[in-house]
Amino acid sequence: MKTDILVVGAGFAGAVVAERLASQLKRKVLIIDKRNHIGGNCYDCYDKFGVLIHKYGAHLFHTDKKEVFDYLSKFTKWHKYEHKVKACLKDVIYDMPINLNTINKFFGRDFDQKECKKYLDEIKVKIKKPKNAEEQVVSQVGWEIYENFFKNYTIKQWEMHPKKLDALVTARVPIRLNTDDRYFDDPYQFMPKKGFTDLFKKILKHKNIDIKLKTDFGKIKEKINYNVLIYTGCIDDFFDKKFGALPYRSLKFKFKNYDQPFYQDYTVINFPNEHKYTKAVEIKHATKQKISKTTVGYEYPSKIGEQYYPVFEPKNEKLYQKYAKEAKKLKNTYFIGRLAEYKYYDMDDVIFSSLNLFKKLKNKI
Ligand SMILES: Cc1cc2nc3c(=O)[nH]c(=O)nc-3n(C[C@H](O)[C@H](O)[C@H](O)COP(=O)(O)OP(=O)(O)OC[C@H]3O[C@@H](n4cnc5c(N)ncnc54)[C@H](O)[C@@H]3O)c2cc1C
Repeated sequence: MKTDILVVGAGFAGAVVAERLASQLKRKVLIIDKRNHIGGNCYDCYDKFGVLIHKYGAHLFHTDKKEVFDYLSKFTKWHKYEHKVKACLKDVIYDMPINLNTINKFFGRDFDQKECKKYLDEIKVKIKKPKNAEEQVVSQVGWEIYENFFKNYTIKQWEMHPKKLDALVTARVPIRLNTDDRYFDDPYQFMPKKGFTDLFKKILKHKNIDIKLKTDFGKIKEKINYNVLIYTGCIDDFFDKKFGALPYRSLKFKFKNYDQPFYQDYTVINFPNEHKYTKAVEIKHATKQKISKTTVGYEYPSKIGEQYYPVFEPKNEKLYQKYAKEAKKLKNTYFIGRLAEYKYYDMDDVIFSSLNLFKKLKNKI
């Protein structure tokens, strides 16, 4: 087998750079993926009831990068969707991330913003430089909110006490003193009108792009010749895990169909303390599909399975850096995306870095 450019992985990292190289530099690109579909983790499909589901968990597009939004807009029309997440504690629904409404409802108060700030200043634990996720949360909202909203959720999600987790894990979720109940505050928050898989089909529809699915790079690497390799799979797999495996947290999804237009009032409901699953996702609120049935996906965190979340621990970062050092020595080989860079990236981050990789490659290959 022979190709000019080989791209491993048909998620956003691979698809965007493949499209740019094919359309702007007129290079021939072969993109392979070990799965039987394109789209990586953003893949969506219709289940047997005709409901459009997100096979790998809820994926909501949001960005503050106009360049990313403009790029994707060449391939899709959008509908407006601002994501909202709720937390359910003993059948009571609260706004998530924590905001003024959450605090008032939880403590049975009627604070305005100023009073709320004063109250939080009283209950939060004074820690200048939080060393872990527990310290990060209690230093912002105190013990009671931590115990009820964060502690068990984090243990379920990571099978690790928040004391052992990097402060960065919980720092991603803001604490708000106003009543803004949007999950993201980016200026661009949209969903592709016909879904993500349709968007990927359009990105990859170019005469210079060939796609081969159900093809694992590890199994064909000895049999294929290429001039340039863009690799978006796990970096430790590329090096046959010679320094050891990079740890990941996984999820199992269980989907249940209901013969009614909607099952719950929100796209995502988190269950910090009840159930084995962490969240119930009814993506139909976001896809806005018009159909009489609905499907809810329940997310069960798991140690084994597909690699979803890198585990933030200094020893893992150190291990990753060993692989990254090896990767830098390789000629005409580029590592990009969440698996190749061992980072939790949102879609827009991945697209942005793929566009930047293309700019770098333009004058180089
Ligand atoms: C549960 C969950 C929810 C998320 N929700 C959001 C959200 O709401 N908004 C948001 O912006 N981001 C979200 N993300 C992040 C988003 O999924 C990623 O940013 C994005 O998918 C990364 O794209 P990628 O191309 O780097 O990786 P992927 O999408 O994982 O694509 C990599 C591809 O490479 C293939 N591959 C790997 N190894 C090989 C190999 N050896 N040979 C051939 N193919 C290989 C894989 O099969 C895969 O298809 C979420 C992530 C998770 C886990």
